[in-house]
Amino acid sequence: MASPNNPRSMALREVTTRPVRITPRPEENGVQQPVSAWYGCNTLSLRQMRAKLPKSVYQKLAAAIRLGKKLDSDIAPTVAQVIKEWAISRGVSHFTHWFQPQTGLTAEKHDAFLNFDENKLPIESFTGEQLIQSEPDASSFPSGGLRATWEARGYTAWNPSSPVFISETGGTKYLCVPSVFIGYNGEALDEVTPLLRSSDVLSARAMELLEIIGDKGVLRVTTTLGAEQEFFLIDRAHFALRPDLIMANRALVGAPPPRGQQLEDHYFGGIPERVQACISEVELELYKLGVPIVTRHNEVAPCQFEMAPIFEDTDIATDHNQLVMAILRKVALRHGLQAIVAEKPFAGVNGSGKHCNWSMAITSDNDLDGTNLLKPGKTPHQNLRFLMFLAAVLKGVHKHAGLLRAGIATSGNEHRLGANEAPPAIISAFVGSMLTRVIEDIAAAKTSPTNAEQAMLKLGVAKLPEVEQDNTDRNRTSPFAFTGAKFEFRAVGGSQSIAFPVMLLQAAVAEAISDLTEKLRKELKTIKSTDDAVLKVVRAAFKETAAVRFEGNNYADEWVVEAQRRGLLNLRRTPEALAQLTTDEAKSLFKSTGILTSVELESRYHVRLERYIKDILIELHTIQEMVDTQILPASYAYLGSIASAAGQGHAAGINMQPLVDAANATSKLVATLQKKRSELAKVTTKAEALHQDAAAQATYLTSTGCDTMAEVRDAADALELVVGDEYWPLPRYREMLFPV
Ligand code: ADP
Ligand code: MG
Repeated sequence: MASPNNPRSMALREVTTRPVRITPRPEENGVQQPVSAWYGCNTLSLRQMRAKLPKSVYQKLAAAIRLGKKLDSDIAPTVAQVIKEWAISRGVSHFTHWFQPQTGLTAEKHDAFLNFDENKLPIESFTGEQLIQSEPDASSFPSGGLRATWEARGYTAWNPSSPVFISETGGTKYLCVPSVFIGYNGEALDEVTPLLRSSDVLSARAMELLEIIGDKGVLRVTTTLGAEQEFFLIDRAHFALRPDLIMANRALVGAPPPRGQQLEDHYFGGIPERVQACISEVELELYKLGVPIVTRHNEVAPCQFEMAPIFEDTDIATDHNQLVMAILRKVALRHGLQAIVAEKPFAGVNGSGKHCNWSMAITSDNDLDGTNLLKPGKTPHQNLRFLMFLAAVLKGVHKHAGLLRAGIATSGNEHRLGANEAPPAIISAFVGSMLTRVIEDIAAAKTSPTNAEQAMLKLGVAKLPEVEQDNTDRNRTSPFAFTGAKFEFRAVGGSQSIAFPVMLLQAAVAEAISDLTEKLRKELKTIKSTDDAVLKVVRAAFKETAAVRFEGNNYADEWVVEAQRRGLLNLRRTPEALAQLTTDEAKSLFKSTGILTSVELESRYHVRLERYIKDILIELHTIQEMVDTQILPASYAYLGSIASAAGQGHAAGINMQPLVDAANATSKLVATLQKKRSELAKVTTKAEALHQDAAAQATYLTSTGCDTMAEVRDAADALELVVGDEYWPLPRYREMLFPV
């Protein structure tokens, strides 16, 4: 135990004596109400709008929301009026366009409803224009050079596909209007615009394909997404004493404790009461916002947890995941906890990902409505359709694996991908043994290619058995796994906005759907039966994409060799992964789909590369400061104390040799750390001097920069294990991860 004045001791005292905070549930007449009675009370759903809006206005709004149609600006004043009345009745005083610049976070600027009428009397007002458009100063958001600062005009525009909601914080309530953020020439400055475009493009392409294969009356193909969120909850008092966690979202130093996760006792273990109390309050807030969180459990690492929602339309799920992260951070503080969604806060134990479960579903006014296109059906036709869309996903992932890798390339995720806990940097797809057999049989043309129905029967797939989740082998090592009726993109990082990686996935799949549609059209010139033609196209696609399917252990060293043999990319570092955004294939994909202009694409590359550089520079400066102001001073003090004790003992005629030996050993470690920190200082200076050339700077930082930082850490961690506990100023892993 450290001495009473050591900040660590004070933190420990605080965390071991803090009572559990219990949040009351909504009640009526003293009786607790079930969640369903107040679920969504802080959001205005389409259903509530229907009750309040004139029919014609409602229909236009519903079409904009449900079918992705352009919003008719005539209806804005009426809708604004309804929203205002609802918000004011809930005690809301301000409104904001809530948008997602390329910071990974959300942004907002509040405006009061307060206004004055012609008699200068105070009133509440909210106009159609205010609902639809707002103008933040665009120059202070990352744009990757897309907009010169002298032309820093951009605006936010209401995205009606995501419901407005009320944020409650610090005793106030304000209305959030989910919005996109675009430059005056229409260029996408945010994460959401490209995502919406990709959803639209995918829908259009999928509808075309469905029309040809005979599924008529489809109004839209939506994509569905369920994002499982992993996170750590550690004590705020410890967090506050760790400059690295505060500045860089990860512990840059810290000796591994004797116990990490090796006992395998945390996963699905009992949730500690104070954590349960916190998570329950997070859920309460999220339920009020209409975010359907339905599962919670302990994750593998100590103090690591996960919550997952019921899947929703991708565009909404993306906003909701931002809310999950924001509410987690906010509510945790009320419980004296710090929520950390970063990818790898603690070396040596698992990091946090965000498994993105993704599929495609039909919206229609006939019995096709709700059909999941990645779910095997009951008839040969339905299963051919399933195989066609499965082939499209595999084709998209095969061709644009590099882009998918770029989509998850962040400084934090770099520590996660490839470690023996998270999917590796090689993008491959897992489909399970049952589908592998089907795919391989089809590809091998073991059946007559001419009659699809017979072929399907012969394959035993006229009725594909429900590929139950338990049926798929649940390969947890795959970065992109088919799990029954959806793919699970597992390599996405815990703190990322899912908009970007999912947009890339949707772009890749949309292109593949088009390619297959074109091939199908060609086949149909000579083949009469659509099903037969579909089977032929599917067969070719399965053959062509064989390399991207991998059923084995993605963590094994042999896979690295095998993947290379197959010609798959293995992009381990962020800069090389991001470079995938600049390839000709990427340019052509975005041009042909219209999801990003070449300038928008380039800006995304720059924003992300710059972010990576800034992240690593922040890490370098933080570790340097910690070494200089905390670790070395603590080591000197400890060394001084044993040296003087040795001196005193010697004067008293005691054999102090053991203490002298200890002092010498410590002194050596201190000298090593001093040497390494000097090297680090030089590396930082050199890196900063490269600021004119971002690519060179990133390359230097990701190699020499990160390597030197790792050496400094080793030296610091060696000292942590010898310096007397009362001298050590930084909360240790054991304190942060094993609360008592
Ligand atoms: P698993 O056992 O594979 O984790 P779950 O049924 O628990 O599967 O679902 C995990 C996540 O996948 C949940 O968020 C769930 O809503 C989501 N999910 C299920 N079906 C779909 C789908 N068709 N599209 C998108 N996400 C889905
Ligand atoms: Mg999980």
